[in-house]
Amino acid sequence: MSVVYITENLKRAEEFILSFLKYFKGNFTAPIALKTHFGEEGNTTHIPPYYIKYVIDYLKSIGLKSTLIETTTLYKGKRATRKGHLMIARGHGFMDIGAEVRIIDGEYGEDSIVFNGLKYASEVVIGKGLDNFKTLIVLSHVKGHSVAGFGGAIKNVSMGLSAKKGKLIMHSTTHPYVNEKKCIACEECVVFCPVQSISIINEHAVISDTCIGCGGCVAVCPENAIKIKWDQDIKKMMYSMVEYTSVVKDMFDSNILYVNFLINITPECDCFPSNGKFINKDVGILASRDPVSLDKASFDLIKDAILKAHQINPEPMFNYAEEIGLGENTYQLEVL
Ligand code: SF4
Ligand code: SF4
Repeated sequence: MSVVYITENLKRAEEFILSFLKYFKGNFTAPIALKTHFGEEGNTTHIPPYYIKYVIDYLKSIGLKSTLIETTTLYKGKRATRKGHLMIARGHGFMDIGAEVRIIDGEYGEDSIVFNGLKYASEVVIGKGLDNFKTLIVLSHVKGHSVAGFGGAIKNVSMGLSAKKGKLIMHSTTHPYVNEKKCIACEECVVFCPVQSISIINEHAVISDTCIGCGGCVAVCPENAIKIKWDQDIKKMMYSMVEYTSVVKDMFDSNILYVNFLINITPECDCFPSNGKFINKDVGILASRDPVSLDKASFDLIKDAILKAHQINPEPMFNYAEEIGLGENTYQLEVL
């Protein structure tokens, strides 16, 4: 059973984060990478930069520089290139908090390190620049996710640190289909699809083979007409994400920490260009050395809202993570 630290008092955020970091001071080996999510253009529910600054300032106070890292996205949009992603980081205030911002998989996602696949992911393709760091602090915004149901540390590490090809490998296990009887041909999905894979044919949406499995159309359809097969597709993607997280964890040995922010809890991830309605009130901040315990504890605190938003239970992801040794599915919550 792993310890998960918590504060429910966001006014104590700085004190909580500093206490957690001081506790683990001995494990900080430079260079240090901080992984967060800068939010898509138009998204404002990502972690506010001032929380990240608490970490950067603490590390500076003990003589350590840190670097904010991200990767290019799979879908089209500003964050799909290094240049565009840096522009978003600047626009959202992440360039003004005292750390360099670096996109670690090249201009177009082409720079990668490739590891052998495990059981579900055929290959594990990580942003090459991750190899330059010796400590990783993962700062994740907890919210829903249209394919995995829940997004926390495992999602932030797996999708967020993989190069484009890695994201494609994880997503390619999902194949949405349209329930023609429910479709009203409103074209919301057509407009949203980042790779133009949806057309309206004979008065209903049709998804072509070029789909990259991002799951966005499932979320935007107002008629709930697009689905993903739970048993075949969703679990495979969850398990691939777990395998990617496990490979990253092995790269850092014990020099990896995770902090989850249960604030601005929306149904979809921060890759969406707008903010969904909040599905839960702010809960607080949780931190641990164990990503599985941390995500399981985070999920348990907002379980009803997550299950209501997507009817997808992410617990098989935590079970598989424990099975392959990524962490423990049980936890002890301690107020810090
Ligand atoms: S999952 Fe939907 S939105 Fe995403 S690429 Fe496939 S068809 Fe397009
Ligand atoms: S968003 Fe839903 S209802 Fe509208 S065209 Fe797409 S599948 Fe049909």
